[in-house]
Amino acid sequence: MAAPVRIVFLGGLGEIGRNCFCLEVDGEVVVVDCGLMFPEADMPGVDLVLPDFTYLRERADDVAGIVLTHAHEDHAGGLSFLLRDLSAPIYGSPLSLGLARRRIEEAGLLGRTELIPVADGETRRIGPVEAEFVPVTHSVPHGFAVAYHTPVGTIVHTGDFKLDLTPVDGRTTDLARLAEIGARPEGVRLLLSDSTNAERPGFTPSESTVGVAMRDLFARHPRRRFIVASFASHLHRVQQVARAAIDAGRRVAMLGRSMVHNVAIGREMGVLDIPADRIVEIEEIDKFPPGEVCVICTGSQGEPMSALSLMAAHEHKWMTVTDDDVVVLSAHAIPGNEANVDRVIDALIRAGAEVVHDRNAPVHVSGHASSEELKFMLALIQPQWFVPVHGEYRHLMAHAHLAVDAGVAAEHVIICEDGDALDVTDDEITLDRRAVPAGFLYVDGIVGDVGHGVLRDRRSLAEEGVVVVIVTVDARSGEVVTGPEIVTRGWVHEAEAADLIEEAKEAVRASLRDAAAEGATDFETLRRHTRRAAGRFINERTKRRPAVIPVVMEV
Ligand SMILES: [Zn+2]
Ligand SMILES: [Zn+2]
Repeated sequence: MAAPVRIVFLGGLGEIGRNCFCLEVDGEVVVVDCGLMFPEADMPGVDLVLPDFTYLRERADDVAGIVLTHAHEDHAGGLSFLLRDLSAPIYGSPLSLGLARRRIEEAGLLGRTELIPVADGETRRIGPVEAEFVPVTHSVPHGFAVAYHTPVGTIVHTGDFKLDLTPVDGRTTDLARLAEIGARPEGVRLLLSDSTNAERPGFTPSESTVGVAMRDLFARHPRRRFIVASFASHLHRVQQVARAAIDAGRRVAMLGRSMVHNVAIGREMGVLDIPADRIVEIEEIDKFPPGEVCVICTGSQGEPMSALSLMAAHEHKWMTVTDDDVVVLSAHAIPGNEANVDRVIDALIRAGAEVVHDRNAPVHVSGHASSEELKFMLALIQPQWFVPVHGEYRHLMAHAHLAVDAGVAAEHVIICEDGDALDVTDDEITLDRRAVPAGFLYVDGIVGDVGHGVLRDRRSLAEEGVVVVIVTVDARSGEVVTGPEIVTRGWVHEAEAADLIEEAKEAVRASLRDAAAEGATDFETLRRHTRRAAGRFINERTKRRPAVIPVVMEV
């Protein structure tokens, strides 16, 4: 019997984001991706959400390496947090490592982190496995699918992919190699494949189609200034926008910290071809007529502090949006960002701009395979077992159905969720449900985990507000010396509710009078009386339940 392989899913199965799983063989662990998730509307004040690293922390010394399939935030954004707990070399394409590097550097962890670049098609031994890096196309260049050749057979992870037959850089998914891996007599034990677009019928259009749409827009508005927002990591999108703009006689300017940074890396690595004499600094932009420039910027997700939002709000240092502008949002709102994106579109239109986005023009295509491509992948790999990854539950389910349609035995298709583990032996794969902690880790600023309790408090403060009752009592008699004073945020507007607040004070005063008459002088009892009296009054009179904070001082 060969040593079994244990696969532990820490994130990305049940949500889009915080992708992370581990392969464990003979006590050695390989981590695959370590991403973050963007917070949703019911997570007030949370900056980002990470996988629970408990399992990895306990095995910090056993981690042989980290595989980075590509540099999107949902795969690389958690690295700078994980690397605080453990130290291991990171394997990825030179571009993926280049893009991920800044975050690791900013966290001060670069000194003890080895970045190991791997080439297309290369195989590397990482601890207990041979990892073969197979090129795939996606919405960031130089992504990988990885075939893990293990003691119990080959496990293929597609990473994020689409089957773009005319990619912008000509680097296609290596279909021939994937077919070869699938056709070997021993076959592929298990396929883990990207489920993001499993519900979408047909094929995802090629990235090249966006270039055609951009050329068309430039031709239609020769005299207007263009501002095009996209993901800073989507260098093929940036390339196409820049090429179409330059061909239309325009110069391009980058705006937004990560756009400036990623474009510099892309040009340095030869991934981006934008001639230096066609680039202008953003500060110089007003020296050119509107029809001769195109600004490429961040902010396509409606981030409130991004260049695009600030421009729309007339708060940007260099640029103001006017009716001379055509603004193109060349991206799709990721879950949780829809409302912000709509708000920015509204603000831009209010500022006079013509706004083009993925709902009114073909200025965006997905980076993920649709159902026909997913079936194509299944046909190439012909896996004995299949687990859909990277998606919300319904995406995973849709992908599972596709796999059965494509010929995988239904009893060999397993829906796993965060925290589940799979044990792969020579002849079986068994599921261990909820094997490890896999809750959300909420990050606010630089604080590690703000926790469920804090979030619950924030939600209740947001919905009901807070009332602070301040009263000074005589320590011996328990009688009120000064107050009560009432300060509130979010219950009633103090200036307009003076009478109500007076009544609330009286209710507290009466309750404290009763307490004193019963001989209560201790601080805790008086606090309880204060909270209860105020809470009851507020609930009876206003049918609300704000947080009541009693502040009792003794003299
Ligand atoms: Zn991705
Ligand atoms: Zn992803």
